[in-house]
Amino acid sequence: PRHDLSNELTALEGTSYGRYKSTRGKWWTKGAVLDIVKVQSDPFAPPSRVHLTFDTDAADLIEEWHATGERRRALAVLLAKRLRKALRTRDLRIDAGGQEMLARSSCEVGVNGSVVFRLGAQLPGRGRRIAGREAARLLCEELPGAADEALAVAEAEAWKWVRHADDVAALREKVAEAGLIGFVADDSMLARKSGVDDRPLAGGVPFASPESMAVTMDLPHAGPVRGMGVGPGVTLIVGGGFHGKSTLLRALESGVWDHIPGDGRDLVVCDSSAMKIRAEDGRAVTAVDVHAFVDHLPSGDDTARFTTENASGSTSQAAAIVESLEAGSRVLLIDEDTAATNLMIRDARMQELVAKDREPLTPLVDLVRSMADDHAVSIVLVMGGSGDYMDVADRVVMMDAYHPEDVTERAKSLAAKPTGRVAEADAFRLPRERVIDPGSVSALSRGKQKIKADGTDGLRFGESDVDVRSVEQITDVSMTTGIGLAIEAAVRLGWIDGKATVREALDRLESELGEGGVAKLSNIRDIDLALPRRYEVAAALNRLRELQIRD
Ligand code: ADP
Ligand code: MG
Repeated sequence: PRHDLSNELTALEGTSYGRYKSTRGKWWTKGAVLDIVKVQSDPFAPPSRVHLTFDTDAADLIEEWHATGERRRALAVLLAKRLRKALRTRDLRIDAGGQEMLARSSCEVGVNGSVVFRLGAQLPGRGRRIAGREAARLLCEELPGAADEALAVAEAEAWKWVRHADDVAALREKVAEAGLIGFVADDSMLARKSGVDDRPLAGGVPFASPESMAVTMDLPHAGPVRGMGVGPGVTLIVGGGFHGKSTLLRALESGVWDHIPGDGRDLVVCDSSAMKIRAEDGRAVTAVDVHAFVDHLPSGDDTARFTTENASGSTSQAAAIVESLEAGSRVLLIDEDTAATNLMIRDARMQELVAKDREPLTPLVDLVRSMADDHAVSIVLVMGGSGDYMDVADRVVMMDAYHPEDVTERAKSLAAKPTGRVAEADAFRLPRERVIDPGSVSALSRGKQKIKADGTDGLRFGESDVDVRSVEQITDVSMTTGIGLAIEAAVRLGWIDGKATVREALDRLESELGEGGVAKLSNIRDIDLALPRRYEVAAALNRLRELQIRD
């Protein structure tokens, strides 16, 4: 690294903005190394990118804090949030994320306790001239000063975060060992401040498990924690409108991610393969085997390779289920609020009025038993409007003024009375495995394609747009970017090679993007990103309108 960035920047005062480019590279700044990675071409362009790296000695963290991957991730999230707070200018921007503890490019703690911050810097200009003294103050004083402040974390606070990381990791292991797919600790606060504010609702009703579903998990730091264990198979959440059904389901959806201490969902976890499924009319579907749900379409289309530019509510939801299973998910989460009714249920009267041979759809209610029994696929379903799932549910939870009650026994005795409904299917078969035609996606990694995330709604690759609004577990814009980069890596590095099935390509992606995955992706493009799961990547790939399947 070079010395005296401050002098260098001051000397550039008043020269043309493009000369900032000469500062690219590594500089010593107060015991840390500042790497000016990308310099914006003018003051109005997207911010420049800088990395600030503290080696083990300079970061001076307690060794136990970085002893495990989970601790390093938690600590990195804490440090990014502390840096955001310490920065007193809008010209330096760090992506500190929201309520989840995700692997992000904005801060990483190394195995040896080194720390890197990666952030955006708006290099100051006056018109098209360099404001060098201001730049020197920004990069040589403000940034290192704020970073020192972030690193000077009180021991008790850092311990709280790393112990929390231990507890959540242990909880996930114990929940899986117990054969459960989810766990909601007593006293959790599931409700959020508002539909646009993901922080916990103050003064809400704390969660309390019904006795019959309660399990106690022994955690390394928190000790014994009681909560509701969600078993495998078919779980039905019922209850009156506005009684908290969707809130419980959303907590499980979000439970695939870890949360920061104090989130209210600190000890709410869900099987890490769980996928929220919803209807999404208008989406493209490419050669998906939906025949279990859809057959004999009036168009005569082959539903074992169902392709459309414009899916209906029901066919889009069928495709989402099949694609999730193909990607390896073994837990599906469905809310009546966002589901296609005709894919969910078909009651006795409708069966009588519309003969089976006139109805292409087989409702999910007739398939979930076989999915659970024959394929170990679990479903958690919110359904307040129809009783037909009582016949096939393993357990029924009623939300009553935000309190869960186990009403399985009552539901079973009701289900014993015949409704006149006849089952429309006897078995579910796992879908045909697909192989992506690499030619159809090769444009995504050609040259300097721009990847642009539009919040959590969309992803633009050069000319193509992917609508991900209905991929509900995407947490924030950085994850959308992470999905884009993961797809680019999969294409460029040949993980999608025309031979590997979708599942095999995702296996490859998952193993390559495990430990060190963030650095790998941010080497492709220096940009704020958060690491998605394989399931979000698959969901975005499946929504690409250019996608083609081999055979
Ligand atoms: P449902 O799906 O049963 O109609 P929701 O889950 O949408 O109900 O919840 C209805 C409202 O109640 C929402 O505004 C939600 O934030 C709020 N809410 C949910 N759980 C709680 C709780 N435990 N304490 C306070 N408010 C809650
Ligand atoms: Mg609801």
